[in-house]
Amino acid sequence: MQEKIIVTGGCGYIGSHTVITLINHNYEVVIFDDLSNSNLKILDRIQKITGIKPHFEQVDLKSSEATHAVFKTHKDSKAVIHFAAHKAVAESIHNPLMYYQNNLFSLINTLKAQQDNSIKHHIFSSSATVYGNPSQMPITEDAPTQRSFSPYGNTKKMAEEILEDFTNSQSDISVISLRYFNPIGAHESGQIGEFPTAIPNNLMPYITQTAAGVLEKLMVFGNDYPTKDGTPIRDYIHVVDLAEAHLKALQRLLGPKSQPLEVFNLGTGNGYSVLEMIKAFEAVSGSLLNYEITDRRPGDVPEMFASTALAKQVLNWEASRSLHDMIQSSWTWEQNLRKGLK
Ligand code: UDP
Repeated sequence: MQEKIIVTGGCGYIGSHTVITLINHNYEVVIFDDLSNSNLKILDRIQKITGIKPHFEQVDLKSSEATHAVFKTHKDSKAVIHFAAHKAVAESIHNPLMYYQNNLFSLINTLKAQQDNSIKHHIFSSSATVYGNPSQMPITEDAPTQRSFSPYGNTKKMAEEILEDFTNSQSDISVISLRYFNPIGAHESGQIGEFPTAIPNNLMPYITQTAAGVLEKLMVFGNDYPTKDGTPIRDYIHVVDLAEAHLKALQRLLGPKSQPLEVFNLGTGNGYSVLEMIKAFEAVSGSLLNYEITDRRPGDVPEMFASTALAKQVLNWEASRSLHDMIQSSWTWEQNLRKGLK
């Protein structure tokens, strides 16, 4: 019998890659998504890649009634992987209430519905942003969490606090929270990737859109940081590696060693500066990128890279894809989008 897994936000960037990994490992997947930042076409792409079209429910998880109803229909599920959230840092600064309302209500409604329907396992999409400006590298999971510069980051920190209180209450639900570093890249098929809705905030889609001529120039936000070349260092990780980490987390939750609450970093452990990323992109694409150094972006920290030891030891997972793979797949995806991938 196939085990059924609910994937909220399963039409989104990391969600859709995870759905593919789950289907390829013989799980039955049902996606809950409000399509606020995604597109139903993704279901056909998933079918093209895996041979299976996942079940889909369009639902607004901010609504407790709607959440209750949809979970009741799928109460035979074994676990929830909760990706559904808004993620644009700049937008969250302009519209904090929208972020708190969406990201926190949807989590609370999901946990409540899991409790009501005895769906006992939950994987939460967290972020390395919960570490704020950490004092030690690499960052281990026991580093203190800090208030974030952005409401988006604070929703992730608060969500983790909610999960801690919830699991401390002997809720009978076990949780793994996964703190993502900087996900980039796309599926090797070239059929699935990050769908840009507005002008991107993040470095990689900004680079590929500049190279594709959609944007004029990449602005490099500061070169006076205390790093090797003055630009900030981040731990970029391939989205398919991330997807595979969710599979491992699910297997742990469904297995005998499941704990009430565990937290893992998902990164490669390698840090690259913005200038190194530009150079690496130029090498992959074979053309020069139009960029200019400008002022620092408020809230950016000089350096972030993960300690990967805990995920390796406990989940038996580590990232295997190279920076070249990450950049090549991002670039292929961008070119496919520009060719009018439908
Ligand atoms: N960055 C940049 N120009 C951009 C977007 C990002 O120089 O248009 C830099 C940013 O300052 C940071 C790095 O790229 O040092 C990664 O930024 P991103 O927003 O992708 O991730 P995060 O800040 O969340 O780590």
